[in-house]
Amino acid sequence: MTDTSISKTERRKIEEVLVAQSASDGDGVRLKRVFGGGNLARFDPFLMLDEFGSNDPGDYIGGFPSHPHRGFETVTYMLEGHMEHRDHMGNVGQLMAGDVQWMKAGSGVIHSEMPKQVEGRMRGFQLWVNLPASEKMTPASYTELAAASIPQYEIDGIHVKAIAGGLTLNGVSVSGPIAGLATEPGYLDIAVGPAQALLVDVPEGHTALVYVYEGALQIGSDSYPIKAGSLARLSLTGELVIEADADTRLLVISGKPIGEPIVQRGPFVMNTADEIHQAIRDYTDGKLVAAQPSNASQSA
Ligand code: MN
Repeated sequence: MTDTSISKTERRKIEEVLVAQSASDGDGVRLKRVFGGGNLARFDPFLMLDEFGSNDPGDYIGGFPSHPHRGFETVTYMLEGHMEHRDHMGNVGQLMAGDVQWMKAGSGVIHSEMPKQVEGRMRGFQLWVNLPASEKMTPASYTELAAASIPQYEIDGIHVKAIAGGLTLNGVSVSGPIAGLATEPGYLDIAVGPAQALLVDVPEGHTALVYVYEGALQIGSDSYPIKAGSLARLSLTGELVIEADADTRLLVISGKPIGEPIVQRGPFVMNTADEIHQAIRDYTDGKLVAAQPSNASQSA
């Protein structure tokens, strides 16, 4: 066991628990929306988290045909299956088990995300990360992280994959390949056994989210069980202390709030309604991506 004798006042508390809701997006893809839409300020800098997972091709075969984004970043993390990404910059990416795609839509991207399998299991996550106003109209970019390039750690029997950021887990620094972003995102995929505890040092003032996708756990001094398919949003200060109740798999997602107004209309996330109307006009007029050179930066 890890020493979790840290005083309770220094532990992050659960502000709310959200149960992922069944939803449909793209061309009839059935997924679980963990959060997204509505009052997003409390998740700042995050805008949406979806979990997709099914053995039934009917749930995923339609995929996400060509569609636009402006003003934020999309992060796709595959656990199982095979998706193909294509975008207006000419990128073609094969996303397979363990791979991550970190795409900055910036001023505009038009892309598709389509299954490259007709049977078997498809499983993963998509996270949306907001951009500050100063970066919303910067050129799009696209980064592919192959599974083998994502650092993995064994810490006190806890298995950790570090996709983004630099955090400390049970006193050990873990850092992922995505770094240097204004929102300082941390993104860890963790597998922990029953009665094991972990302590994650998330920077003071940063948003901290824990999404459980298998098993169950408890957080801080609350004895409230967070079960698979639920997200806990934590208070902004203190240590994040997690104790697993079973073999549990979870995502720890953290980031520095931007603190700017958020106006969303579907795939466009800007700071004002006028900017949203402009995005819609630009897309309708075929200008969403026209301002970008075709050789726009392809990697961060
Ligand atoms: Mn998309």
